[in-house]
Amino acid sequence: MVMQNGDKYLLSFFKNLQSAFKDYAHNISEISSLLDKAILRINVLIEPTIKNELKVYSVPPMRELSGKMSNCINQLREKKEMIAKYFQNINEILEDGKVKCSDCNGEGKVKRLRYEREEGIITSFYEYEPCPTCGGSGYFAISEEVRRQGYEILKALKMIAK
Ligand SMILES: [Zn+2]
Repeated sequence: MVMQNGDKYLLSFFKNLQSAFKDYAHNISEISSLLDKAILRINVLIEPTIKNELKVYSVPPMRELSGKMSNCINQLREKKEMIAKYFQNINEILEDGKVKCSDCNGEGKVKRLRYEREEGIITSFYEYEPCPTCGGSGYFAISEEVRRQGYEILKALKMIAK
């Protein structure tokens, strides 16, 4: 099997996607725990026993819980957008069968500052040269097998990106 230079880049994008999901899960569990606390606060109103009072002893007031929760909900939205972005990114790569070089943004060339000394005066100017990272092609190829397997997993995740 012939592996290509773009394969490891594709893998790093899958890792980004994985950690975005992990972040999302963390956020969800925070919302669940805040809801737990809110329930304790309401419960003590319904049954104001000593036992229930003790349960809410270190629970922040409802207003604070509510503020934290709306923060979490906003973050959840941002994190879902992040997941959708990573998904789109990988989808594009798989469709194109190549990864865009991030150093030259697919241009294949990079600007470099040059200096020239003439009659004691130093002037600087920009010059284009082939991108040393991708060798001037602007892209890295992906091997067929990695592409196929990448698609396999991506199509299962399609729903979340919508
Ligand atoms: Zn490049």
